[in-house]
Amino acid sequence: QPFIELSDVVVRYGGDGRGTLALSNTNLRIDEGDFVALVGPSGCGKSTILKLVSGLIKPSSGGVFLAGREVAANRVGIGLAFQNPTMMPWLTIRENVMIPLKIVEPYRSEYARKKKGEFADRADAMLAKVGLAGFGDKRPWELSGGMLQRASLCRALVHEPRLLLLDEPFGALDSFTREELWEIMQDLWIETRPTVLLVTHDLREAAYLANRICVMTARPGRILEDRDVPFLRPRT
Ligand code: ADP
Ligand code: ADP
Repeated sequence: QPFIELSDVVVRYGGDGRGTLALSNTNLRIDEGDFVALVGPSGCGKSTILKLVSGLIKPSSGGVFLAGREVAANRVGIGLAFQNPTMMPWLTIRENVMIPLKIVEPYRSEYARKKKGEFADRADAMLAKVGLAGFGDKRPWELSGGMLQRASLCRALVHEPRLLLLDEPFGALDSFTREELWEIMQDLWIETRPTVLLVTHDLREAAYLANRICVMTARPGRILEDRDVPFLRPRT
């Protein structure tokens, strides 16, 4: 049984399901622990797939399943990171990274027992992994764009989600910072092996990070090619 399954999914935006055809009869099955890159031109439906899997939208027809259940009936932990790392400016970096731990608290008893100090320790441990040790007490505006994106990855992973949804998280960075973050991202993935869905325009990024690449096409959006790819860096 696949971890993520899209079965004959059609998505039309607006017009009560009769508007813009964003995805046309799309089928996709993803095994748990895979790192899948969705690549393709603007408007081909990459973000729409992430929104379906996270439950933000429902398909106009077809089924979307996560861990064998309807997405809406799910308690699979999800981590999210986007192109713009939105941090709450009134919180420190550490407190921003702790947000998912506080949100899952009512649902997962192992977190309910943990005290705030333990959440802070976990946030600090995550920050150290991405090279931000000692920055936990800073406010978002005191960090560079690259550092904020690192913190955003920490926030996406701090609650050890089984599923990580990434929408162009490295897109706004200079190429040097971007490649440094690819390496960090791959280390984090190898360490805990969440299932990852990465939306990107960058084929090099897809080839570096993913073990499977889905190439999509627009008008109407659908998956054109689906390939397993070798790792460019030896797995440890
Ligand atoms: P991508 O992420 O590949 O750029 P999207 O999934 O964002 O593509 O969009 C797929 C198509 O659906 C595009 O034609 C886009 O204009 C359209 N679309 C996306 N979101 C909406 C919306 N909320 N309302 C109407 N059309 C939308
Ligand atoms: P950019 O996103 O601008 O490329 P990086 O995230 O790559 O920046 O950061 C480059 C280096 O500059 C970091 O490794 C860090 O040591 C330093 N740096 C950037 N902003 C700050 C800051 N506010 N305080 C301390 N050091 C910083």
